[in-house]
Amino acid sequence: MKKHNFSAGPCILPQEVFKQASQAILDYNDSGLSLIEISHRSKDFVDIMEEARSLALELLGLEGKGYKALFLQGGASTQFLMVAYNLLQNKAGYINTGSWSDKAIKEAKLFGEVVEVASSKDANFNYIPKGYQVPNDLDYLHCTSNNTIFGTQIKDFPTTKAPLICDMSSDIFSRQLDFSKFALIYAGAQKNMGPAGTTLVVVREDILGKVKRQIPSMLDYQIHLSKGSMFNTPPVFPVYTSMLTLRWLKNLGGIEAMEELNEKKAKLIYSEIDLNPLFSGFAAKEDRSNMNATFTLINEDLKETFDDMWKEAGINGVNGHRSVGGYRASMYNAMTMESVAALVDVMGDLERKA
Ligand SMILES: *Cc1c(COP(=O)(O)O)cnc(C)c1O
Repeated sequence: MKKHNFSAGPCILPQEVFKQASQAILDYNDSGLSLIEISHRSKDFVDIMEEARSLALELLGLEGKGYKALFLQGGASTQFLMVAYNLLQNKAGYINTGSWSDKAIKEAKLFGEVVEVASSKDANFNYIPKGYQVPNDLDYLHCTSNNTIFGTQIKDFPTTKAPLICDMSSDIFSRQLDFSKFALIYAGAQKNMGPAGTTLVVVREDILGKVKRQIPSMLDYQIHLSKGSMFNTPPVFPVYTSMLTLRWLKNLGGIEAMEELNEKKAKLIYSEIDLNPLFSGFAAKEDRSNMNATFTLINEDLKETFDDMWKEAGINGVNGHRSVGGYRASMYNAMTMESVAALVDVMGDLERKA
């Protein structure tokens, strides 16, 4: 039986994508060859890469606006340093809303001055800072749209004249935004797009080529762009699977349709968290993430009973991150309403039982 998978990442993908991807491993398009044994320079794979790149721009509404998409390796964590390597000449600003922002800040400090423009570290990152001043002499301002571990999500993005950079690893393609506000967006595939092993980078080309330092080829956005995201052997299977997910998303009605479903799922779980006297939410209400709902049991004595109950119901991956504790239900794009309802039912059953 397929489980209700709330894993934070790597995580759920559409069932039809799993099927198509596994078929391609055995025999790609009746070619008698596996997708993972053909040359990445073959027309078959070049077409896949081009479709993936153009679907990403199309879905984000960024076609014809000076942006290009890349599928790179090294995870979002490599982007923490690549962003600074390519864009930080003197001074960059960072909004610190969680462990991932913290790690991005640490890497950027290797390349120049870093100002923490705002932070919610004082409250274990359970809210999104607001009402802060952004310095006007930044090379760029970096933020994290969704804080996977803490379950907060930025609703109003900062305004700045500097290029706005965003780590959207855990909520890309999940909600409508004016993506042209961002000069560079990056996202590790394994939260909302594909298997681990590739990272989407969407960059407005005019921000590149401005720093004076020499950049090693593999870390240089301009080199990857000039080679069509094929400077070296790309991660063919993660790129193909991501492309299938993007096709799935487009057929479903794109981000608009996805957002509607994601809001329904989030409403369902948060109303249970708020109404059920046994649970309390971790994140500040106005900053709650539609992707990762974090909550705790008020009475820890019920933990064993609750854990047995959700396991019994075929639920997987709801244990919270060690830095928050409690529970985290990750409801990425491919999660169905039925799965969220299954978890909410168990929470209700616990209340009736306790
Ligand atoms: C998971 C995650 C990362 C780290 O991604 P890797 O691909 O493992 O490097 C970075 N940022 C956010 C917001 C994440 O959720």
